[in-house]
Amino acid sequence: MELDLRDRVVVVTGAGRGIGATIAERFAAEGAWVAALDLAFPAEPDAAAERLTRFVCDVTDPDSVQAAVDAVVGRFGTVDVLVNNAGINVEGLVTDLTWDRWRAAFDVNVGGTFLMSRAVAPVMQHAGRGRILNAASFAAIVPSVGSAAYAASKAAVVQLTRVLASELGPWGITVNAYAPGMVPTAMNGFAEMEPAAQDRLLDTLSLRRWETPDDVANVLIFLASDASAYVTGTLVDVSGGKLATQIPARAYGR
Ligand code: NAD
Repeated sequence: MELDLRDRVVVVTGAGRGIGATIAERFAAEGAWVAALDLAFPAEPDAAAERLTRFVCDVTDPDSVQAAVDAVVGRFGTVDVLVNNAGINVEGLVTDLTWDRWRAAFDVNVGGTFLMSRAVAPVMQHAGRGRILNAASFAAIVPSVGSAAYAASKAAVVQLTRVLASELGPWGITVNAYAPGMVPTAMNGFAEMEPAAQDRLLDTLSLRRWETPDDVANVLIFLASDASAYVTGTLVDVSGGKLATQIPARAYGR
């Protein structure tokens, strides 16, 4: 099966580091024109510089979002794929959580997804095709202690995805959310934890290894392609079995 993304225009938010940076590089490697959006970028040039252009954008700011989308359309003519990857992790028990931290989680994770989708949808409607892919999390389905703001915001992303899918379906635009599991990044510091703490987390996975950004990108490349034309309004689980069974470590004799 050929997942032909050559010359598609792909916008990836939060592409300055972490999973988003890999998603952007992988789409560029597929031959797409990639617009990488973030608050800031590392100084060194991108490996895939020829097909990857950086745009500074704060997804919580409607003016910044519209300016970035206008700049992308001015440069590439359209947007075929939008990956709403930008997100922040806010931790804290409900009894400790400040209103500002709660709001920050919703502003970036839900508000950013809303603002970017609202700005890009008319471009896709004009083209009569499009793909919107929204970063949710397994936490949208099974939250953990201290994840009220994050988990609730990611659950809201899943519900927003369903509404967008039905509102944009008449234009042939598909909208899906995806749920990564545990990818060690600066957001969570998994790789820097004590070995015993890492083991406790890995014991929750059927595949019992950390997820890589490429594990996520592989699924997004499929969801962005014509091969996924009949998939919309769903949450694609890319969590290595985080949501599959209660005690997967038993299969490893642990
Ligand atoms: P990360 O913190 O490494 O990267 C997030 C990027 O988003 C950063 O570059 C940051 O600058 C950018 N960003 C934050 N606020 C922004 C804003 N207002 N405007 C524009 N960009 C902004 O995180 P990551 O681990 O790569 O996670 C990427 C996405 O995947 C997030 O939505 C996250 O919730 C989701 N996710 C990650 C994991 C994981 O294990 N890492 C698991 C489930 C879901």
